[in-house]
Amino acid sequence: MMMANVIGHKQAKIILQNAAAEGRVAHAYLFYGLEGVGKTTLAKAFANTLLCKEGNIDTCDECSICRRFAKGCLPDFFLVEPHGNNIKIEQIRELQQTVSFKPYEASKKVYLISRAETMTRDAANCLLKILEDPPPDTIFLLTTVNPYNLLPTIVSRCQIVALGKVPQQEIEQFLRDNNRGAPETVVLLATLCNGLPGKAWAMAEPDKGLETREMVFQLYEKIKNGDISELIKKAEELEKNKDIMPEVLEQLLLWYRDQLIWQETSDKSLIINIDKIEELKSDLEYKDKSFLVKSIENIHEAKMQINRNLNFRLTMEVLMLKLAKCT
Ligand SMILES: [Zn+2]
Repeated sequence: MMMANVIGHKQAKIILQNAAAEGRVAHAYLFYGLEGVGKTTLAKAFANTLLCKEGNIDTCDECSICRRFAKGCLPDFFLVEPHGNNIKIEQIRELQQTVSFKPYEASKKVYLISRAETMTRDAANCLLKILEDPPPDTIFLLTTVNPYNLLPTIVSRCQIVALGKVPQQEIEQFLRDNNRGAPETVVLLATLCNGLPGKAWAMAEPDKGLETREMVFQLYEKIKNGDISELIKKAEELEKNKDIMPEVLEQLLLWYRDQLIWQETSDKSLIINIDKIEELKSDLEYKDKSFLVKSIENIHEAKMQINRNLNFRLTMEVLMLKLAKCT
């Protein structure tokens, strides 16, 4: 994949491309940013650029190396990913055995260690030893969501590539160019993904659809009906889907935000859940601004509490009751 085709991260791409073109490549890079921001995609494109026979600012996408890289069978590129929850010492030892070998086809070798923060302590110490005495023509690319979970001695040996969120319009274009998601949901997906193209891509999965979103609207229906015992049961049920709750609450927040914006402006172009506009209009007949503001505050507060790992069930029960009571 060409670096030019990687969505977003303009500044990071310029720095990496200039380093590649001018032969000023560091021994190790650490790509960090949120899940779904594109760390591995960019690291792979950079690896391909470094390995390409043309040795220029980007991949040529045509040489034998680029073709083998695209097929995932270039022996000079190594991908290390967690086995289960961790990258284990055996995986790094395996890597260690190959580092001293000369490249097969390219002029260098590139190791990509994805989700490096999952390395066990032993694995991290073993990698540190390799990074302390880096073999020639070998480049390490690490990705992580959180550099603070890595050994500081590893981080200090890497050039940092911080990746920020991608602008919504670029994500929209990316989804359209790749025919990903139904045309009418592209804007919605690009908004809901919150600057993370990987998340938009996953949400647009044809069979998966907008599963989480459906869950949000089912929940909202129950809140609207105000049946307290139903809501308590729902809070219990949601505990089974704890891992996606920050996402559910984020989307619920956007729904209340839409209601507030519509009430204040009646401007369709500002509404995110545009496919639900009729529901939005009818729901608003019996709500006032202070109710909506209060609901938004309540959801936000519950989101913070869940992020801080406070009692999940209790937090959700209280939220359900507050939202239903406001109705
Ligand atoms: Zn090439």
